[in-house]
Amino acid sequence: MTDIIHLLPDNVANQIAAGEVIQRPASAVKELLENAVDAGATDIQLIIKDAGRTLIQVTDNGSGMSFNDARLCFERHATSKISCAGDLFKISTKGFRGEALASVAAIAHVELKTRRIDDELGTLVSIAGSEAQEHKPIAAPAGTSIAVKNLFFNVPARRNFLKSDKIEFGHIEEEFFRVALIHHNIAFSLYQDDKLTVKTPASNFKQRIINLMGTHFNDKLYPIEQDTEIIKINGFITKPENAKKKKSEQYLFINDRYVRHSLLNFAIESAYKELIPSDYKPAYFIRLYVEPGTIDINISPTKIDVKLQDERLMFGFLNSTVKKSIGAYTLTPQLDFESDRGLDMSLLAPPATFKPPTVSVNPNYNPFENKSGGKSGGGSGSYGASCHKEHGSMAGWEDFLKGIKQETVQIASSINGDMQEESRLPLSGAGEPSNNAQETVPKYEKCLLLANCFIVCIIRDVLTVIDSMRALERILYENYLEALQKTPVVIQQLLFPEMITLTPGSAELLLELREEFWKLGYDIEQIDRTQFAVNGMPGDESDMPVQELIEYTIENYKSNQFLHKEGKENNIALSLCRQKCRFLKPVQNMEEAISIMQRLFACRIPDTAPCGKKTIHLVQVEELKNLFH
Ligand code: ADP
Ligand code: MG
Repeated sequence: MTDIIHLLPDNVANQIAAGEVIQRPASAVKELLENAVDAGATDIQLIIKDAGRTLIQVTDNGSGMSFNDARLCFERHATSKISCAGDLFKISTKGFRGEALASVAAIAHVELKTRRIDDELGTLVSIAGSEAQEHKPIAAPAGTSIAVKNLFFNVPARRNFLKSDKIEFGHIEEEFFRVALIHHNIAFSLYQDDKLTVKTPASNFKQRIINLMGTHFNDKLYPIEQDTEIIKINGFITKPENAKKKKSEQYLFINDRYVRHSLLNFAIESAYKELIPSDYKPAYFIRLYVEPGTIDINISPTKIDVKLQDERLMFGFLNSTVKKSIGAYTLTPQLDFESDRGLDMSLLAPPATFKPPTVSVNPNYNPFENKSGGKSGGGSGSYGASCHKEHGSMAGWEDFLKGIKQETVQIASSINGDMQEESRLPLSGAGEPSNNAQETVPKYEKCLLLANCFIVCIIRDVLTVIDSMRALERILYENYLEALQKTPVVIQQLLFPEMITLTPGSAELLLELREEFWKLGYDIEQIDRTQFAVNGMPGDESDMPVQELIEYTIENYKSNQFLHKEGKENNIALSLCRQKCRFLKPVQNMEEAISIMQRLFACRIPDTAPCGKKTIHLVQVEELKNLFH
């Protein structure tokens, strides 16, 4: 097989945008990863030591290079990807400048091992400060492996200019994400200081986003699609409430290249106008495809800034496509809590804020008696909802208890704060008359469990339907507030810790919330920047998917921070109860149903879930009668 790399003639080389290619370790990472992609690799490994200062190594299973090419590739303007000036306007590869390897070899110790699949022997080239030191045949696996050691060894000023390892590695990880996101058909792995931190198999675009950005994205991504003669747009946007103050999760690709384009970015962000605060940024993963001749990639040495032929037109297409998708997916009310509780991640409705109630009891008042325009609105409905409308949430809640008051004495004292003990008292039921003069909950008759979801019973001739999941959310929420303020949940130590991995941003937040998680029953220990060991959990959660539970809770926490400006304790209680409910099994039997009912009535605000929606629905006899008229 022949050699394929050649030196570009001067007239072409002179047209290549000049400038520094390697500014920091992340720039070398980008160039090496892109070379591996261009070589047709299906599996790419990135190994980083000391944030790239000591080692950056990229190994691929791509085309490999011939003996001569392995040496020539380190020359300036040596490339196999273009040959004449006209090629600059039909670029379909990541690279085309023939400068990256030359730039890297000038400022580091580089060792290249490569073999084409049909060659018997491979080639080793080692080079330092542009001086070739070795060039010889060796046995090597098919593909290419380039190790860049001691970056900037001969440019101390540049080396001293590097930021902390954390910042430099952050840049490396970002470059890795940009390449790996768009090349989802290629398997990628990333080793940081000998530890495998990312491994993602070949998959579709959506799965790749989820693999790299975190499983919580599963519920956040909404597809966008537009297919015209001059532009094809596809990818995913995210719900307005998932916007963040940071710009970090914005990915725009043109012709499979990550690009920075302020006008197109504005086209996307302005589609969210009025749906998110002006200083918040929506996350997006959008791919545009245009004719290669209509885009100029050769305007900066890093190939990240591009120029499009008709930018205004592109702006219009992109803006309207994103708007259409926001309208179709994120603003459709059916996508809310009601449609699929399992998929709902964030709190769309403002949560009821927790206020210790003060109760004034009117023993003669009974909302179950349907007197002149009674409090239940003369018919059925959520007690909470109907009364909230008339009096605001406190009044509705008080009225509810006043109605119960005639039958129960203890519940009033539970409101005054002593609810833990009472929630353990048995529930009084028709089948099990209680001798206890002080009941914790109203007397009920004929309790049933419907579809493992609704607890149905008759309380003082009113058909009472309890949504068991919402009830559990309320119960957990109040338990969590109690645990945060007074009595932490007992932690059950695990025999084998559960390992979880978070995105860097979520990992930082988890560290901030570690004490709150501890009070809520989670013993969490940081292993490295993004990995944590969960050493202990509340006893009742042995079969919970810990990774998802913690990850989703943190995401929920973030969106509450932004949407509702929740305080720390209230927010963590809200987020954890919401997410834990997603993983709870449906109610299995009457015993569980009764326990839920009992604990719900012992709550301070039993009729409303923390998300602000009703937990209890009442149907009056009158209304049933009307149904048959
Ligand atoms: P460019 O990518 O712009 O052509 P580079 O300096 O990055 O310039 O690479 C020079 C040449 O070396 C490429 O054109 C390609 O032929 C060859 N090359 C670089 N990396 C690899 C690789 N991982 N596998 C096969 N060939 C490679
Ligand atoms: Mg290249």
